Amino acid sequence: MGTVVETPVKEADATVTVKKPTVVFVLGGPGSGKGTQCANIVEHFGYTHLSAGDLLRAEIKSGSENGTMIQNMIKEGKIVPSEVTIKLLQKAMEESGNDKFLIDGFPRNEENRAAFEAVTKIEPEFVLFFDCSEEEMERRILNRNQGREDDNVETIRKRFKVFLESSLPVVQYYEAKGKVRKVIFCSPIFILVIMF
Ligand code: UDP
Ligand code: MG
Repeated sequence: MGTVVETPVKEADATVTVKKPTVVFVLGGPGSGKGTQCANIVEHFGYTHLSAGDLLRAEIKSGSENGTMIQNMIKEGKIVPSEVTIKLLQKAMEESGNDKFLIDGFPRNEENRAAFEAVTKIEPEFVLFFDCSEEEMERRILNRNQGREDDNVETIRKRFKVFLESSLPVVQYYEAKGKVRKVIFCSPIFILVIMF
């Protein structure tokens, strides 16, 4: 038998660029209309809508080992650890087969934002920010009757506080980069204009 000479496998050319998915972050306080308007946007622009909150609620329902922890955090209006949410988002992105995403309700704090960028190497194309008064948001949440455990006055107040203290700084971060498109009037036509 001859000697097998192993030739090193040539590394793939590092200069080959793989097209990264397009991501738009959709941010705004609880009840500001993010989910509702995302549903309108996907009809016209070919995006896949991924709601971080919906993914977390589905994870609770699936009976996963993180379910109880997630449920407790949501009940308290707290932000679930980045690692958990990012894994769910990555999985949903892969499974969608699409390369354009509206990520709704994430990133909710600086740590979420930095972790997402570090793990996925994706920077958002822009950020849609739903600017809505607290009174209006509270009125909408209390009227929406989705049977959510966190849609009660006590938890809503906590969610507002977390939004002001932790989530608004993320909007400000992207504002400084000129990436924020602010939505103050949620008519479908206005949304169409702002997406271009
Ligand atoms: N949540 C989280 N990380 C996320 C998105 C949601 O921890 O990236 C949790 C958080 O407790 C939040 C809840 O899920 O209060 C509901 O979020 P969702 O975006 O569904 O609702 P919103 O408050 O924006 O109406
Ligand atoms: Mg929502």
